[in-house]
Amino acid sequence: MNNTLALIKPDAMQKGFKDEIRKDIMDNGFIIAEEKTLHLSVEQAEGFYSIHKDKPFFEELVEFMTSSETHIMKLEKANAVSEWRNLMGATNPAEADAGTIRAKYGTDISMNATHGSDSNENAEIEINFFF
Ligand code: ATP
Ligand code: MG
Repeated sequence: MNNTLALIKPDAMQKGFKDEIRKDIMDNGFIIAEEKTLHLSVEQAEGFYSIHKDKPFFEELVEFMTSSETHIMKLEKANAVSEWRNLMGATNPAEADAGTIRAKYGTDISMNATHGSDSNENAEIEINFFF
């Protein structure tokens, strides 16, 4: 078993998709090992996405991630990192495969419903950031 960190971002929370996304996660064989809902502070959002601090969209990203509550989950499954990224779909919901979470629940390239760790190393760092 491996772990990854999943977030249900403020757009999907605001639209009431939390329970549907949790169901999709469990229907796809993940175990939700830990979870909590938080309204991220600016410091938390900047720290969590610090890898993107020099990107042109950083300010927009922090503003979005602090706009309302985020649901935070530690997921367990074999190959959890790649399995969760496959279930989420592409970063831009307009390019995500039909049936993926971002295609179903995402708004646009910024407000794209969910986050997933991109490597086992970052999964460990991100899980320790929130749990
Ligand atoms: P995440 O890290 O949230 O799982 P990702 O790994 O698919 O997403 P990243 O390149 O890490 O994509 O970007 C982090 C987040 O920054 C994206 O999920 C999205 O919310 C936002 N973002 C990425 N690219 C853009 C962009 N061009 N314009 C606006 N926001 C963007
Ligand atoms: Mg990423």
